[in-house]
Order: sequence, then structure tokens, then C-alpha cells
Amino acid sequence: MTKRETSFEALTVESLPGRLGGIEALTARIGNDSAAWKVREVGDGNLNLVFIVEGPNGAVVVKQALPYVRLVGDSWPLPLKRSFFEYHALIRQEARAPGVVPQVLHFDEAQALIVMEFLTPHVILRKALIAGRELPLIARDLGLFMARTLFRGSDLAMPTRERKADLALFADNAELCDITENLVFTDPYFEAAMNRHTSPQLDPLVAELRADRDLKVEAQRMKHLFAANAETLLHGDLHSGSIMVTDAETRVIDPEFAFYGPIAFDVGMLLANYWMSYFSQDGHEADGSRDSMRAYLLGVIAKTWSAFRAEFARLWRTERTGMLYHRSLFEARGDTIGAEQALGAVVQSIWHDMLGFAGIEIHRRILGLAHNADFETIEDEDLRASCEAPALRFGRQITVARRELHSIDEVNALAALIRGEARR
Ligand code: ADP
Ligand code: MG
Repeated sequence: MTKRETSFEALTVESLPGRLGGIEALTARIGNDSAAWKVREVGDGNLNLVFIVEGPNGAVVVKQALPYVRLVGDSWPLPLKRSFFEYHALIRQEARAPGVVPQVLHFDEAQALIVMEFLTPHVILRKALIAGRELPLIARDLGLFMARTLFRGSDLAMPTRERKADLALFADNAELCDITENLVFTDPYFEAAMNRHTSPQLDPLVAELRADRDLKVEAQRMKHLFAANAETLLHGDLHSGSIMVTDAETRVIDPEFAFYGPIAFDVGMLLANYWMSYFSQDGHEADGSRDSMRAYLLGVIAKTWSAFRAEFARLWRTERTGMLYHRSLFEARGDTIGAEQALGAVVQSIWHDMLGFAGIEIHRRILGLAHNADFETIEDEDLRASCEAPALRFGRQITVARRELHSIDEVNALAALIRGEARR
């Protein structure tokens, strides 16, 4: 290997065929004649380069990290090694929940690039939800994906020595954790420099939230849990922009934020993005009522939670091979009821924590740096603010009162109530 190939260099549409034309995993899939490849850059993400490479026999995606945050530029450096963590997370997710993440074809650590399966005709779930599309399978598929990856990556299932080694490996993804720790849990709750919100419409509510001592304390308790409860390998960024769908398939991409954290974090982030979609629908009614879409979304939320819970319980009963809640204390002594009691307690704490993470995710998407298209594509600022305000109130309520909420139907009813009050 020449020096040029080992030191990092960003790919371009022009240089890609020459640089990757010799990789067998790639040529075997799309065709040998790299001069005939068609390359386009499609990255609509905030951080990385993403190319679609089409050859005579097929297509692949090439994702390459850059040494800085793409959205901001080289004034905000970010290490290339996030690609290493994305690769390792994809491999583990494939093993724990087969067939959901894109198949990895090649990984080059020095070039921080992953060659993977091109998902087509899949579209980003967030875009589909904004368009008012009701996907039939997402609740079941993502409930299963979360239960399988989160359970199987924890001390409920893994040999603890293996898990501890893996925890050490992912602990080095500290810069991406730092983004979450600051942008999600802290910045939204004070006037941080990179924050923005729909102003002046939301100013009074934003001031109220930032003065809300109970909220601030709960947000920090959630951050404490995020940072200190290294329970399982998380996706770390499981929102509707990290999911690609057709009517028949649900796929999960982009686990570069992967690290060991609380089970409830992935679940809370995903459900938060559905609740935001719910509140944003009022801003997308130019072509007709979204009543059915709203009912669909609340249904998806309820079904995702119940699919997660059911699969988690199934794995608890059949795959609890780790050191926690060891069978020798329960089933092996004929105490099945004890094992069920412990399951209930574990699911209960995931439930309450999930609500806290969800509330904070909602706040940071409306008050922080990284907003989401569900609200951002509502051009009329008064209309946008009228969708964001009830979402903020709902986020506050499910964070602060999370221990007083006992069922997903109750939380959905709260969302509907808060939306209804805002529209009176
Ligand atoms: P980033 O980490 O920079 O946000 P993503 O992994 O989210 O990058 O990818 C950016 C976009 O590229 C996605 O929104 C999606 O449109 C497209 N993309 C990424 N991976 C694939 C894939 N395997 N197949 C098809 N499209 C993909
Ligand atoms: Mg990303």
C-alpha cells in the first residue's frame, strides 16, 4: 500500500472509481469496469459523505466520515473513528437482529469508509411521515429490532467478559457521546450559542421552560443515566431519519453514535420522533386533513411499545443467559413467578426512563441546534410555532411526570389532550 492510500483523503465523485475500483467485495457486486461506474453524492445528513455507486450489475452505498461536522464545516472537528464505531455497530446489530441494517461489504478504517448494501426503493421514514404515508410494518419491525439489539447486547444475555471488552471498545466513541450529552441534555435548557427556535412566537414558552427548575433537574437526571448507565450497545441516534422504509420492509441505518448506554434511550428517541410527527401534522394539512395520519401515528407508538415489550419478555424467558437475574435464583429453583416479577420491574424502569428521554429529545429538536424536518418544512412560522408549542408542553410533561404515567394509551391521550387545548 502506498502512503497516499493509508492517510485519509476525502472521496469525490471523480476520484471514487479509481480509488475503490480494486476492492473485490465491490467489483463482485456491481461490476469490474470501474470506468463504467456512475457515482452520485447523496448525503443529506449532517456529518458524512454518502455516495451511491452504480455499476452494470448493481449498486452500493459508500459512506465516508470527514474529519469535521459537515453541517458546520472544519471549524467543528470530529474524529474519523466514528466510522469504525458505525462499522462495529452494524456488525453487532446484524448478528442480534438479522436483516435489518444494511449488509456491510467492505470497511477501510484509515479512509473511514464503509461500503454497504444500497437500500432501494427505500425512502427515509421521516420524509414518508411528512408526506402523510402510513407504513404498515414499522411498529412491529422496530419494536422487534429494539428489543433484540438492546436485550442481546446487555448483561441479560451476553457473557459479561465479552460485554465488558465491548464496552471498553465503544467507550472511545466519546466525541459523539459528547455531542449528545451537550446538544440533547444541556443546551436546550439555557441560551446556548448554537440554539435556535421559532422566534418570537415561542419566546415566552421557551423562557418558561428554561425557568422550570423541575424540568432542568429531570433533564440532568436523564443525562446522568445516559452517561453512567452503560447497560447495552445502543444505536444512539434512532430517529425517523435513521430508518429507511418501503411498505414491505423496515431498515435501520447510521449507527455512528453507538455506545453503551441505557436501554430506554433508543426507545425514547424513536417514540419522541413519532410524537413530534404527530404534533407536526397540523402544519401539513394544505392538501387535506391529517386526522387519519394522527390516529395512525398514535397507533404506531402504542404498537411499537407493545411489540418491544412482548419481544423483550420473550427474550427474557428464553435467552436470559447473562449474569443478571440469573436463572439459578429463579427458574432453576422453580421460581418462575420471581423471574416474572423481576421482568416486570426491569420493564417498568425502561418505561419511565423512556418517557424522560423522549421528552428531552422533543425539546432539543425544537430548541437546540439540530431541528427536524417534520417542523422545519412548515414554512409559515405562526403555524409552525403552533405545532411546536404543544409538542414542547407535552415533552415537559412526560419528562417531569414520567413516574405518574402508567400506560402508553395514557401518554397518547395526554398528547391528544395537549394538542386539543392548543387548537381551541
Ligand atoms: P449521516 O450520518 O451523515 O447523517 P446517513 O447514514 O444518515 O448519513 O446517510 C445520509 C443519507 O444517505 C440518508 O438519509 C439516506 O438518504 C442515504 N443513505 C445512507 N445509507 C444508505 C443506504 N445503505 N442505502 C440507501 N441510501 C442510504
Ligand atoms: Mg449520522
